[in-house]
Amino acid sequence: MTRPDLAKLWPLPALAIAALLPWLPGLPAFWVTLANYTGISAIVAIGLVVLTGIGGMTSFGQATLLGLGAYTTAVLSKDYGLSPWLGLPAGLIITAAGATLLGAITVRLSGHYLALGTIAWSVGLYYTFANMDLVGRNDGINGIPPLEIAGHPLLDSRAMATVIWIGVILAALITNNLLDSRAGRAIRALKGGTIAAASFGVNTARTRLLAFVYAAVLAGFAGWLYAHLQRSVNPTPFGFYPSIQYLLMTVIGGAAHVPGALLGAALVTLVNDRLQDLLPRLFGARGNYETIVFGTLLIAALQWAPNGLWPLIARLRPRRHPIATNAAKLPARPMPAPGTPLLEVVALRRTFGGLVAVNDIAFTLNAGEILGLIGPNGAGKSTTFNLITGTDTPTAGHVRFQGHPITALPARAIAALGIARTFQHVKLVPTMSVIENVAIGAHLRGHASPLAGLLRLDRAEDARLYAEAARQLARAGLLAEADRPATSLPLGQQRIVEIARALCLDPVLLLLDEPAAGLRHAEKAELATLLRRIRAEGVTILLVEHDMEFVMGLVDRLVVMDFGTKLAEGPAATVRQDPQVIEAYLGSIE
Ligand code: ADP
Ligand code: MG
Repeated sequence: MTRPDLAKLWPLPALAIAALLPWLPGLPAFWVTLANYTGISAIVAIGLVVLTGIGGMTSFGQATLLGLGAYTTAVLSKDYGLSPWLGLPAGLIITAAGATLLGAITVRLSGHYLALGTIAWSVGLYYTFANMDLVGRNDGINGIPPLEIAGHPLLDSRAMATVIWIGVILAALITNNLLDSRAGRAIRALKGGTIAAASFGVNTARTRLLAFVYAAVLAGFAGWLYAHLQRSVNPTPFGFYPSIQYLLMTVIGGAAHVPGALLGAALVTLVNDRLQDLLPRLFGARGNYETIVFGTLLIAALQWAPNGLWPLIARLRPRRHPIATNAAKLPARPMPAPGTPLLEVVALRRTFGGLVAVNDIAFTLNAGEILGLIGPNGAGKSTTFNLITGTDTPTAGHVRFQGHPITALPARAIAALGIARTFQHVKLVPTMSVIENVAIGAHLRGHASPLAGLLRLDRAEDARLYAEAARQLARAGLLAEADRPATSLPLGQQRIVEIARALCLDPVLLLLDEPAAGLRHAEKAELATLLRRIRAEGVTILLVEHDMEFVMGLVDRLVVMDFGTKLAEGPAATVRQDPQVIEAYLGSIE
């Protein structure tokens, strides 16, 4: 595809507008001021898109992080005579360091506890600002020097509007870059639950921290702009209520979309301004009535437009990923010699309270083999998969892979050894396209850092990851669906997408949990052909499947489980004749 993507050039007209619009003759100063506060808020809200809308972590502390950036540049430029421009890197470093510390404690928490955690430290920081002599206690710091360009101080709010909106555009641009990079896909994959992401090597704890620090750094950037726009700071705008407003902007605008942050920031800033005029007239007295109005608005928004306004305005389609057919293939790992023992499961046991889900199961899988694991529903097959892949921890027993114990390893370390899996209950990320989901499978085959992603230095590597994803999708027969939202496919095809994702890991061992469920007869035959071809390439397969015709034609050996216990093991034809097996399983189906 050589046609230039015009949509990618949006920053150019946007920058021109940011530079020129504030200077439009006759533009009321009042509008310029509103634009300035909208821009500063939009930068904070863009950070919340990554953290809350996409990463799923709610923060009630963004205003306080903005304060960290604002106070840093205020103290350095006023008290220490540092150039306000140097206050920017200083502010970003302080916010990033503070957020790393706060995030390390907070992002381990989940759901409501995480939100409560952000309230705790933001209230603490707020009172620190209000009581610390260095930052002027409740009075704050006045007389902060303005930004200067070539000796000219930017005192005119139109000049600041240009600076602030260039900042907004840069924030939107690098955020888009991040979300389209390897690190950004990992953040987006958190939406599919951490189990699937971790099974493909994503360090989910570190990814959550990354989203948190990224949002904080954008808040710190906004704080730097705020300090040099206002030229005075005090604790009030860095408290709990302003934090709620930033969250409100993100939620109203469209929590998972960068343009939504701009829309939400504009709406809330505008409404806030109107209310400050209107409410005192309505109630005949000054008071924080807007808190009530915004609280009501937030609840109404959550009720009627839980995904925000942006998805209602824009026709949202997943980003198209042109495939670089000339991208170099990713290096492949060496395959073990066929017939050598690959996976040894020894006396593996898992109990849930009084229930023995897996009861001292033992079997060996040799390289190049397809082993079928069968048994009635509830026999413990999926639990066995979870124990092997590190998704769950055994009560007793152990697993060896290529001679090394892997029982105590986390899922991402087991994935790194070349064990890939699919899930009985499909775990694709609904907000990502088919090919983006498949590309997560290749996470461990890329190395680009988040910073490289932000700056677009990762393009060559990313093209290789996508080329690999396209190659595996083509093998699975689903390349035509690459740019569709993953969960818009029929369930049977979503299972095939999961196989393509697993193949992207370049697996030595592939664990498939009911891959043929929901497929039509012809599709099952295609799947069998695909699995034989994968096996011919040296990949070993452990297969759970209920369709006996499918299993019998494919597997070398069978292990039969019932109530957590191994009933039989051996060549498919022999096991099929076993009276115990017929009674427990095959008989019950016929
Ligand atoms: P299969 O995949 O063979 O159908 P599973 O491994 O999913 O069976 O389940 C085996 C047994 O363990 C079932 O009785 C199931 O209800 C139980 N089980 C599985 N996971 C859990 C869990 N997280 N908590 C409690 N019980 C579980
Ligand atoms: Mg199961």
